[in-house]
Amino acid sequence: MSKHEAVRVQLEGQLARLLERVGKIEGDLRKAYDRDWQEQAIEVENDEVLKGLDEMTLGEVRRLRGALRRIATGTYGTCATCGGAIGEERLAAIPSAPTCVTCSTERRGSE
Ligand SMILES: [Zn+2]
Repeated sequence: MSKHEAVRVQLEGQLARLLERVGKIEGDLRKAYDRDWQEQAIEVENDEVLKGLDEMTLGEVRRLRGALRRIATGTYGTCATCGGAIGEERLAAIPSAPTCVTCSTERRGSE
């Protein structure tokens, strides 16, 4: 058993929940096209919110998939930018963190 088995199970659980949420959001977006134009005016505002959420959710999905890939390839816990150790404490707080604290601070906003 991999030493990251517990993390892998946790990340896969998070990923499954996120994908379920994305499916629901996409279903809501599709429904909007069936309404008449008056209702659509209201729906547009809701869609903007849903799209923003969708993007955030998809970003998180990418992070989780990246972390699962790193566990599979044995590079989990290694910073994707500098190659140093991410650190147990940071991984405990953010299991899907791709970079160490230093690199994450330097690339603020892009993580
Ligand atoms: Zn780093």
